[in-house]
Amino acid sequence: MQGVRKAFGTNVVLDGVDLDVDAHRCVVLIGASGSGKSTLLRTVDLLEDVDDGVILLDGEDITDPRRDADAVRARMGMVFQAFNLFPHMRVLDNVTLASRLVHRVPRREAQERAHAMLERVGLGARADAFPDELSGGQQQRVAIARALVTSPRLMLLDEVTSALDPELVGEVLDLLGELKAEGMTMVVATHEMGFARHVADEVCYLHAGTVHERGTPEQVLGDPQQPRTREFLRRII
Ligand code: ADP
Ligand code: MG
Repeated sequence: MQGVRKAFGTNVVLDGVDLDVDAHRCVVLIGASGSGKSTLLRTVDLLEDVDDGVILLDGEDITDPRRDADAVRARMGMVFQAFNLFPHMRVLDNVTLASRLVHRVPRREAQERAHAMLERVGLGARADAFPDELSGGQQQRVAIARALVTSPRLMLLDEVTSALDPELVGEVLDLLGELKAEGMTMVVATHEMGFARHVADEVCYLHAGTVHERGTPEQVLGDPQQPRTREFLRRII
């Protein structure tokens, strides 16, 4: 992201955001509620238009109005706080839907891939369940499987454990740690400082519409340089 600016009316949420994410890296976004973490992720996933600046994916300007937004989005997997599974569809169908509709993968192949991905997230036995028959942690792992099944270049994860009961947070964070270890490129907005400390390559603190402070987890969480960062960390830890 280079100089990305995004306002809602007079509310300038992103005010010149610069952010680089190299392949296979995990960048964690931290910041107060309303600091623009979700908006940042949504601009990358082209769910919000930017007012200024550019976003490049593999060198291609994905904010260029001439690009094919669906084709760009197909190269990313996004997971939200509220799992957003389709309640009337079985787990397997939730996971196959995008490959069938967006990627035009034939049903059989889509189902094989979905089964493999459900195995991957530890839910191979629950393919025929409906979402409300699963725990929150299991539902979120289904949502992650759904995002992974199309082999995204980049995963965008927006507070994916915030809606979970505390005892279910670990299973989802463990899964993200495994994805990172397997080389997935990820941008993760989270309040889970343990995850940031142990999994992130880089931590970015968002404040006043910019990346106010960035560095390794040791630097930003252990020895923050900016007073604002220090104050934020003091409040949440
Ligand atoms: P965070 O995820 O860090 O909590 P958000 O990106 O959700 O922050 O929100 C940043 C700011 O943008 C907030 O002031 C929020 O009210 C505003 N905002 C987000 N989405 C919209 C929208 N669709 N319309 C108007 N304002 C929005
Ligand atoms: Mg948010």
